Amino acid sequence: MRNARVWRALLGVDEAVVEKVEFDEDRRAVVGHVHPVRAARGRCGVCQRRCGRYDAGEGRRRWRTLDLGSVPAYIEADAPRVCCPEHGVVVAHVPWARHGAGHTIAFDETVAWLATQCSKTAVLRTFCGLSQDQLRPGTRRAVDSTRALHVTLACGKYT
Ligand SMILES: [Zn+2]
Repeated sequence: MRNARVWRALLGVDEAVVEKVEFDEDRRAVVGHVHPVRAARGRCGVCQRRCGRYDAGEGRRRWRTLDLGSVPAYIEADAPRVCCPEHGVVVAHVPWARHGAGHTIAFDETVAWLATQCSKTAVLRTFCGLSQDQLRPGTRRAVDSTRALHVTLACGKYT
């Protein structure tokens, strides 16, 4: 795909191949269709150990990512399951999101940072356009990530 590097940056995905980008008329949103690079495929969603494929899981799945201007954006990809010797049958790891999250890491971290600067209501309703119920599963992970980022900043290791 032409301009794949630009689309990876705009969609906030690393270690992924952008297959195509389209506009979903029903959701009025941009959807980037991606798949993990070979080195990131076939890994346990919990421990990221390389595992054998179990099945196709529930098929294609979408993750909310950062808006592109005023337009919401999503990442869409296959979500196969793998069989991990330690964790059993789980959805495979994807490099752009934490296991079980419905949002990308970039989205989670942005929301977490906003939550430290604004009221939660402002973040949830104004910046993200999400209800409190929609965001609840990702918020804890995002806040944990932001704490890690603050520690890194305090130690001067972040550039
Ligand atoms: Zn595992």
